[in-house]
Amino acid sequence: MSTPLIFCRMGEVWLKGRNRDRFLRRLQANVQASMDAEIPGCVVRMPHARLLVHLPPGASVERAVAICRDTPGISLVSPAVEVAPDADAIEEAAAALVAARWAGQDGSFRVKVHRGDKRFPGTSTELGARIGSRILLTHGWPVDLTRPDRTVYVDLAVGAAFVSVERYAGAGGLPVGSTGRVLLLLSGGIDSPVAGYLAQKRGCDVEAIYFHSAPHVSEASRDKVVALARKLAPRQGGLTLHVVPFTRIQETIRDAGGSRLSVLLYRRFMYRIAAALAARRKLLALCTGESLGQVASQTLENLRLVDMVSDALTLRPLITTDKQDIMDLARRLGTYDISVLPHQDCCTLFVPEHPTTRAPIGLVVAHEAELAVDELVADALARTEVVAL
Ligand code: ATP
Ligand code: MG
Repeated sequence: MSTPLIFCRMGEVWLKGRNRDRFLRRLQANVQASMDAEIPGCVVRMPHARLLVHLPPGASVERAVAICRDTPGISLVSPAVEVAPDADAIEEAAAALVAARWAGQDGSFRVKVHRGDKRFPGTSTELGARIGSRILLTHGWPVDLTRPDRTVYVDLAVGAAFVSVERYAGAGGLPVGSTGRVLLLLSGGIDSPVAGYLAQKRGCDVEAIYFHSAPHVSEASRDKVVALARKLAPRQGGLTLHVVPFTRIQETIRDAGGSRLSVLLYRRFMYRIAAALAARRKLLALCTGESLGQVASQTLENLRLVDMVSDALTLRPLITTDKQDIMDLARRLGTYDISVLPHQDCCTLFVPEHPTTRAPIGLVVAHEAELAVDELVADALARTEVVAL
């Protein structure tokens, strides 16, 4: 009668005017790649403004739905069956789906028909009423058109009809890779993986950079960052992580008596190194998990001081997001449990209890004049290790 498939609608991609085709092709390729990685044999098609994932026999529909829901650019996901655009075939498919999926349930229902193909004979109401009567007669459930417990969805496309009884929200946003490549400053904390996800959701393909201070910071901290990067990788078919040795820079700052300025000095080095790496890798922006006022290094004054070290554009997707909301999102993404593992970040090394929230630029520059800044940056870059995930 029908073939199992996942029916998806695209959200904002439709606003893209003349670039729409490029965005759609990117989305199709992304879904195909994510499927290939987990469910080989899927075929992804994009007829008539819909994205369809045809599943091979025996594939997990649940898993395929989860992958589609996690794919930026998709706004709605629905496991469906495809039948000929013919009222008899649609009614039979709806009856069979309802019997299989709603057996043993109680409550009201409705049938919702979307006429993508206006040439389909009769009205949507007539088709809905026909399917509704069949279900009512078979199961006795009451019809409720305004607040039903369950809904049968029928989508009439050109040359095909799609019937489904489940619908889920997708991630929304834009296809990964459609807006450009960025360099995410990824620590082991809660915020930066969430920032990376939000950048992906706005179409960014992410590379990550992690500053590691061995042996002051344990290898477990590095493993944690790798685990977090792995959470971001599937959405873009892999991720490159750059691990920068940061020990020499931190020890140099400590030995020069950086004291209350030290966190800011660390961060200015991180930004210099990240900007240089981004330029070398042709990445269009940096991306961080900074949130205004969250800690001393994230005051407006101090953010301005880190921006000054390069002309790189820095995306800060979380800049106005409250910590609680960031934590909620981290839980949904599955990064929270990794982030809260108790391992140290290099920003907490050799720092005073009360780091300055408003470092005077003159003092910062005077401190840095005592350091071989360019040499330290070049040395860290030269020893950077690349991990392909
Ligand atoms: P997070 O929870 O992401 O670690 P945080 O609230 O702990 O953030 P900071 O330690 O001040 O804040 O870091 C702010 C941002 O700087 C991070 O979100 C991240 O983008 C970047 N960052 C901090 N430490 C590192 C590091 N060791 N390697 C790479 N990026 C880092
Ligand atoms: Mg941190």
